[in-house]
Amino acid sequence: MVLKEAEVVVLGAGVAGLVLARRLLERGLRVLVVAEALGEASRPPVALVNPLRGKRFTLAEEGERALEAALLFYGRFVPLHLGVFRPVPEADRAKVAGRLSGLKHRWEGEGVLLEEAFWLEPRPLLARLAEGLPFLWGRVLAWEPPHLVLEGGGRVRGEVMVYAGGGRGAHLLGLGGRLIPGLVLTLWDYFPRALSYRVYLAGAALGGSYLPGEEGYRLLPPTEGEVEWLLQGAEALVGYRPRVASLWRGVRFRLPGPHLFPVEGGFALTGLGSTGFLYAPLLAKRLAERL
Ligand SMILES: Cc1cc2nc3c(=O)[nH]c(=O)nc-3n(C[C@H](O)[C@H](O)[C@H](O)COP(=O)(O)OP(=O)(O)OC[C@H]3O[C@@H](n4cnc5c(N)ncnc54)[C@H](O)[C@@H]3O)c2cc1C
Repeated sequence: MVLKEAEVVVLGAGVAGLVLARRLLERGLRVLVVAEALGEASRPPVALVNPLRGKRFTLAEEGERALEAALLFYGRFVPLHLGVFRPVPEADRAKVAGRLSGLKHRWEGEGVLLEEAFWLEPRPLLARLAEGLPFLWGRVLAWEPPHLVLEGGGRVRGEVMVYAGGGRGAHLLGLGGRLIPGLVLTLWDYFPRALSYRVYLAGAALGGSYLPGEEGYRLLPPTEGEVEWLLQGAEALVGYRPRVASLWRGVRFRLPGPHLFPVEGGFALTGLGSTGFLYAPLLAKRLAERL
Protein backbone atom coordinates (compact mmCIF):
# COMPACT_ATOMS: atom_id res chain seq x y z
CA MET A 1 0.00 0.00 0.00
CA VAL A 2 1.43 3.43 -0.96
CA LEU A 3 0.89 5.65 2.08
CA LYS A 4 2.29 8.87 0.61
CA GLU A 5 4.21 10.16 -2.37
CA ALA A 6 6.33 13.20 -3.12
CA GLU A 7 8.68 14.61 -5.73
CA VAL A 8 11.56 14.05 -3.34
CA VAL A 9 11.47 11.59 -0.47
CA VAL A 10 14.26 12.12 2.06
CA LEU A 11 15.09 9.23 4.38
CA GLY A 12 16.48 10.71 7.58
CA ALA A 13 15.76 13.68 9.83
CA GLY A 14 19.27 14.42 11.07
CA VAL A 15 21.13 17.56 10.08
CA ALA A 16 21.74 16.21 6.54
CA GLY A 17 18.12 15.29 5.79
CA LEU A 18 16.56 18.34 7.44
CA VAL A 19 18.86 20.91 5.86
CA LEU A 20 18.22 19.33 2.47
CA ALA A 21 14.45 19.11 2.98
CA ARG A 22 14.34 22.76 4.06
CA ARG A 23 16.28 23.84 0.99
CA LEU A 24 13.98 21.79 -1.27
CA LEU A 25 10.86 23.24 0.34
CA GLU A 26 12.24 26.73 -0.19
CA ARG A 27 12.77 25.90 -3.89
CA GLY A 28 9.11 24.92 -4.16
CA LEU A 29 9.53 21.14 -4.45
CA ARG A 30 7.10 18.67 -2.91
CA VAL A 31 9.24 16.98 -0.31
CA LEU A 32 8.55 14.33 2.33
CA VAL A 33 10.88 13.37 5.17
CA VAL A 34 10.65 9.80 6.41
CA ALA A 35 12.41 9.01 9.68
CA GLU A 36 12.22 7.15 12.93
CA ALA A 37 13.26 10.12 15.06
CA LEU A 38 14.50 13.69 14.89
CA GLY A 39 18.26 13.18 14.47
CA GLU A 40 20.50 10.42 15.71
CA ALA A 41 24.19 11.37 15.51
CA SER A 42 22.90 14.94 15.06
CA ARG A 43 21.83 15.29 18.69
CA PRO A 44 25.02 16.18 20.59
CA PRO A 45 24.38 18.96 23.14
CA VAL A 46 26.81 21.17 21.20
CA ALA A 47 28.36 20.99 17.73
CA LEU A 48 31.39 22.85 16.45
CA VAL A 49 31.47 24.13 12.91
CA ASN A 50 35.20 24.27 12.40
CA PRO A 51 37.08 23.78 9.14
CA LEU A 52 40.54 23.38 10.75
CA ARG A 53 40.49 19.74 11.72
CA GLY A 54 42.16 17.55 14.30
CA LYS A 55 45.58 17.55 15.89
CA ARG A 56 47.18 17.83 12.47
CA PHE A 57 45.30 21.06 11.70
CA THR A 58 44.13 19.86 8.31
CA LEU A 59 42.07 22.40 6.44
CA ALA A 60 38.85 20.59 5.47
CA GLU A 61 38.34 20.28 1.72
CA GLU A 62 36.35 23.33 0.58
CA GLY A 63 36.38 24.29 4.25
CA GLU A 64 36.08 28.02 3.64
CA ARG A 65 33.13 27.62 1.29
CA ALA A 66 31.42 25.15 3.63
CA LEU A 67 31.88 27.51 6.58
CA GLU A 68 30.41 30.42 4.65
CA ALA A 69 27.35 28.36 3.62
CA ALA A 70 26.92 27.12 7.21
CA LEU A 71 27.09 30.64 8.66
CA LEU A 72 24.48 31.93 6.25
CA PHE A 73 22.15 28.98 6.61
CA TYR A 74 22.14 28.18 10.34
CA GLY A 75 22.13 31.85 11.27
CA ARG A 76 18.51 31.97 10.06
CA PHE A 77 17.43 29.35 12.63
CA VAL A 78 19.49 29.51 15.85
CA PRO A 79 22.06 31.73 17.58
CA LEU A 80 25.62 31.06 16.41
CA HIS A 81 28.40 31.40 18.97
CA LEU A 82 31.26 32.79 16.92
CA GLY A 83 34.92 32.02 17.58
CA VAL A 84 36.76 28.71 17.95
CA PHE A 85 40.13 28.93 19.69
CA ARG A 86 42.66 26.31 18.61
CA PRO A 87 45.79 26.05 20.77
CA VAL A 88 48.66 25.29 18.38
CA PRO A 89 51.93 23.66 19.58
CA GLU A 90 54.89 25.91 18.78
CA ALA A 91 56.34 23.42 16.28
CA ASP A 92 53.14 23.56 14.20
CA ARG A 93 52.59 27.31 14.09
CA ALA A 94 54.33 28.07 10.79
CA LYS A 95 52.49 25.19 9.10
CA VAL A 96 49.13 26.30 10.48
CA ALA A 97 49.75 29.96 9.58
CA GLY A 98 50.32 28.86 5.98
CA ARG A 99 46.90 27.19 5.85
CA LEU A 100 44.79 30.00 7.19
CA SER A 101 44.91 32.59 4.43
CA GLY A 102 41.23 32.27 3.47
CA LEU A 103 39.89 31.98 7.02
CA LYS A 104 39.28 35.02 9.17
CA HIS A 105 41.59 34.53 12.17
CA ARG A 106 43.72 36.17 14.83
CA TRP A 107 46.73 34.75 16.66
CA GLU A 108 46.39 35.03 20.43
CA GLY A 109 49.00 33.73 22.88
CA GLU A 110 49.34 29.98 22.44
CA GLY A 111 47.07 29.56 19.48
CA VAL A 112 44.77 30.91 16.85
CA LEU A 113 41.21 32.17 17.08
CA LEU A 114 39.12 31.24 14.05
CA GLU A 115 36.81 34.20 14.13
CA GLU A 116 34.06 32.88 11.89
CA ALA A 117 34.10 29.25 13.03
CA PHE A 118 31.36 28.73 15.61
CA TRP A 119 29.38 26.41 17.83
CA LEU A 120 25.64 25.92 18.01
CA GLU A 121 23.08 23.80 19.83
CA PRO A 122 21.90 21.05 17.49
CA ARG A 123 18.66 20.15 19.30
CA PRO A 124 16.95 23.54 18.93
CA LEU A 125 18.39 23.69 15.41
CA LEU A 126 16.75 20.39 14.43
CA ALA A 127 13.46 21.50 15.97
CA ARG A 128 13.51 24.78 14.04
CA LEU A 129 14.48 23.08 10.77
CA ALA A 130 11.62 20.61 11.21
CA GLU A 131 8.96 23.31 11.60
CA GLY A 132 6.51 23.15 8.70
CA LEU A 133 8.20 20.22 6.94
CA PRO A 134 6.02 17.26 5.92
CA PHE A 135 7.03 14.12 7.87
CA LEU A 136 6.13 10.50 7.97
CA TRP A 137 7.43 8.90 11.14
CA GLY A 138 8.31 5.22 11.04
CA ARG A 139 11.06 2.67 10.56
CA VAL A 140 12.21 1.98 7.02
CA LEU A 141 12.95 -1.68 6.36
CA ALA A 142 13.97 -1.55 2.71
CA TRP A 143 15.12 0.83 -0.03
CA GLU A 144 13.33 -0.35 -3.18
CA PRO A 145 13.28 2.54 -5.65
CA PRO A 146 10.95 4.28 -6.25
CA HIS A 147 9.72 3.09 -2.84
CA LEU A 148 10.76 3.00 0.77
CA VAL A 149 9.23 0.04 2.55
CA LEU A 150 8.14 0.77 6.10
CA GLU A 151 7.66 -1.46 9.10
CA GLY A 152 4.07 -2.67 8.86
CA GLY A 153 4.30 -3.05 5.06
CA GLY A 154 3.32 0.50 3.96
CA ARG A 155 5.28 2.13 1.16
CA VAL A 156 6.29 5.68 0.36
CA ARG A 157 6.94 6.66 -3.23
CA GLY A 158 9.42 9.28 -4.37
CA GLU A 159 10.22 10.44 -7.91
CA VAL A 160 13.67 11.01 -6.44
CA MET A 161 14.83 9.37 -3.23
CA VAL A 162 17.59 10.78 -1.03
CA TYR A 163 19.34 8.70 1.58
CA ALA A 164 20.27 10.80 4.64
CA GLY A 165 19.89 8.04 7.22
CA GLY A 166 23.40 8.31 8.70
CA GLY A 167 25.05 5.26 10.28
CA ARG A 168 21.89 3.73 11.64
CA GLY A 169 20.34 3.17 8.22
CA ALA A 170 23.52 2.53 6.20
CA HIS A 171 22.80 -1.21 5.93
CA LEU A 172 19.71 -0.41 3.80
CA LEU A 173 22.04 0.57 0.97
CA GLY A 174 24.99 -1.62 1.96
CA LEU A 175 27.14 1.48 2.38
CA GLY A 176 29.89 0.03 4.61
CA GLY A 177 31.95 2.83 6.21
CA ARG A 178 33.29 3.29 9.75
CA LEU A 179 31.16 3.85 12.83
CA ILE A 180 33.03 5.81 15.47
CA PRO A 181 31.57 6.12 18.96
CA GLY A 182 31.95 9.54 20.56
CA LEU A 183 31.00 10.92 23.94
CA VAL A 184 29.88 14.35 25.05
CA LEU A 185 29.77 15.26 28.73
CA THR A 186 27.55 18.13 29.76
CA LEU A 187 29.10 20.29 32.45
CA TRP A 188 28.23 22.65 35.23
CA ASP A 189 30.67 25.13 33.70
CA TYR A 190 30.02 27.19 30.60
CA PHE A 191 32.56 28.10 27.91
CA PRO A 192 31.19 30.90 25.73
CA ARG A 193 34.09 30.58 23.30
CA ALA A 194 34.84 27.13 21.92
CA LEU A 195 38.28 25.61 22.56
CA SER A 196 39.47 22.62 20.62
CA TYR A 197 42.57 20.48 20.78
CA ARG A 198 42.16 16.70 21.09
CA VAL A 199 38.78 17.33 22.82
CA TYR A 200 36.44 20.28 22.54
CA LEU A 201 34.87 22.54 25.14
CA ALA A 202 32.00 24.76 24.07
CA GLY A 203 28.95 26.05 25.93
CA ALA A 204 28.25 23.46 28.62
CA ALA A 205 29.79 20.56 26.70
CA LEU A 206 33.02 18.58 26.56
CA GLY A 207 33.28 16.18 23.64
CA GLY A 208 35.64 13.91 21.79
CA SER A 209 36.20 10.45 20.35
CA TYR A 210 38.37 8.05 22.31
CA LEU A 211 37.12 4.63 21.22
CA PRO A 212 38.16 3.07 17.90
CA GLY A 213 35.81 2.88 14.92
CA GLU A 214 33.75 -0.25 14.24
CA GLU A 215 31.96 -1.79 11.31
CA GLY A 216 28.55 -2.17 12.93
CA TYR A 217 26.25 0.37 14.57
CA ARG A 218 26.30 0.07 18.38
CA LEU A 219 25.35 2.53 21.09
CA LEU A 220 27.80 1.44 23.80
CA PRO A 221 27.50 2.68 27.37
CA PRO A 222 30.19 5.23 28.27
CA THR A 223 33.41 3.63 29.51
CA GLU A 224 35.45 4.89 32.45
CA GLY A 225 38.63 5.27 30.38
CA GLU A 226 36.73 7.44 27.96
CA VAL A 227 35.38 9.82 30.61
CA GLU A 228 38.84 10.10 32.18
CA TRP A 229 40.40 10.82 28.77
CA LEU A 230 37.89 13.61 28.12
CA LEU A 231 38.48 15.17 31.53
CA GLN A 232 42.26 15.03 31.08
CA GLY A 233 41.81 16.70 27.70
CA ALA A 234 39.71 19.46 29.30
CA GLU A 235 42.27 19.94 32.06
CA ALA A 236 45.02 20.38 29.47
CA LEU A 237 42.94 23.13 27.84
CA VAL A 238 41.67 25.08 30.85
CA GLY A 239 43.84 23.98 33.78
CA TYR A 240 41.16 22.22 35.87
CA ARG A 241 38.64 19.39 35.61
CA PRO A 242 35.14 20.64 34.96
CA ARG A 243 32.28 19.03 36.93
CA VAL A 244 30.16 16.62 34.91
CA ALA A 245 26.36 16.88 34.86
CA SER A 246 25.38 14.21 32.31
CA LEU A 247 26.62 12.15 29.36
CA TRP A 248 25.52 11.76 25.76
CA ARG A 249 26.69 8.94 23.52
CA GLY A 250 26.59 9.19 19.73
CA VAL A 251 28.09 7.33 16.80
CA ARG A 252 29.72 9.13 13.88
CA PHE A 253 29.42 7.53 10.46
CA ARG A 254 32.34 8.10 8.12
CA LEU A 255 32.60 7.11 4.47
CA PRO A 256 35.78 7.74 2.52
CA GLY A 257 35.38 9.83 -0.59
CA PRO A 258 32.44 12.04 -1.54
CA HIS A 259 29.55 12.53 0.84
CA LEU A 260 27.05 13.43 -1.85
CA PHE A 261 26.81 10.70 -4.50
CA PRO A 262 24.30 8.96 -6.76
CA VAL A 263 22.61 5.74 -5.58
CA GLU A 264 19.86 3.65 -7.13
CA GLY A 265 16.70 5.77 -7.21
CA GLY A 266 18.44 9.05 -6.35
CA PHE A 267 21.25 10.30 -4.15
CA ALA A 268 22.93 9.80 -0.81
CA LEU A 269 24.04 12.65 1.44
CA THR A 270 25.84 10.89 4.24
CA GLY A 271 29.03 9.54 5.82
CA LEU A 272 30.13 12.95 7.07
CA GLY A 273 32.04 11.70 10.13
CA SER A 274 32.62 14.61 12.51
CA THR A 275 31.86 17.30 9.94
CA GLY A 276 28.10 16.87 9.42
CA PHE A 277 27.28 20.36 10.66
CA LEU A 278 30.08 21.90 8.60
CA TYR A 279 29.15 20.36 5.25
CA ALA A 280 25.36 19.86 5.36
CA PRO A 281 24.40 23.38 4.15
CA LEU A 282 26.88 23.40 1.24
CA LEU A 283 26.16 19.86 0.03
CA ALA A 284 22.40 20.24 0.46
CA LYS A 285 22.53 23.45 -1.57
CA ARG A 286 24.35 21.63 -4.38
CA LEU A 287 21.88 18.78 -4.39
CA ALA A 288 18.84 21.06 -4.17
CA GLU A 289 20.10 22.96 -7.23
CA ARG A 290 20.28 19.67 -9.19
CA LEU A 291 16.78 18.45 -8.33
C1 LIG B 1 29.92 12.60 20.02
C2 LIG B 1 29.74 13.30 18.72
C3 LIG B 1 30.10 14.62 18.60
C4 LIG B 1 29.98 15.28 17.37
N1 LIG B 1 30.38 16.59 17.27
C5 LIG B 1 30.29 17.20 16.07
C6 LIG B 1 30.68 18.56 15.92
O1 LIG B 1 31.13 19.19 16.86
N2 LIG B 1 30.56 19.13 14.69
C7 LIG B 1 30.08 18.45 13.60
O2 LIG B 1 29.99 19.01 12.49
N3 LIG B 1 29.69 17.18 13.73
C8 LIG B 1 29.78 16.55 14.92
N4 LIG B 1 29.42 15.24 15.03
C9 LIG B 1 29.04 14.52 13.81
C10 LIG B 1 27.68 14.89 13.37
O3 LIG B 1 26.84 14.77 14.48
C11 LIG B 1 27.27 13.99 12.21
O4 LIG B 1 28.16 14.18 11.12
C12 LIG B 1 25.87 14.33 11.75
O5 LIG B 1 25.00 14.41 12.84
C13 LIG B 1 25.34 13.30 10.79
O6 LIG B 1 24.02 13.67 10.47
P1 LIG B 1 23.10 12.80 9.58
O7 LIG B 1 21.91 13.63 9.29
O8 LIG B 1 23.89 12.26 8.43
O9 LIG B 1 22.71 11.51 10.46
P2 LIG B 1 21.86 11.30 11.78
O10 LIG B 1 21.79 12.48 12.67
O11 LIG B 1 22.40 10.02 12.37
O12 LIG B 1 20.39 11.07 11.26
C14 LIG B 1 19.94 9.87 10.73
C15 LIG B 1 18.44 9.96 10.52
O13 LIG B 1 18.01 8.82 9.79
C16 LIG B 1 16.97 8.19 10.48
N5 LIG B 1 17.03 6.76 10.18
C17 LIG B 1 18.14 5.97 10.09
N6 LIG B 1 17.78 4.71 9.78
C18 LIG B 1 16.44 4.71 9.66
C19 LIG B 1 15.48 3.70 9.33
N7 LIG B 1 15.82 2.45 9.08
N8 LIG B 1 14.17 4.05 9.31
C20 LIG B 1 13.78 5.32 9.55
N9 LIG B 1 14.64 6.30 9.86
C21 LIG B 1 15.95 6.00 9.92
C22 LIG B 1 17.20 8.52 11.96
O14 LIG B 1 16.00 8.38 12.71
C23 LIG B 1 17.64 9.98 11.82
O15 LIG B 1 16.53 10.81 11.68
C24 LIG B 1 29.47 14.58 16.25
C25 LIG B 1 29.06 13.27 16.38
C26 LIG B 1 29.18 12.62 17.60
C27 LIG B 1 28.74 11.21 17.70
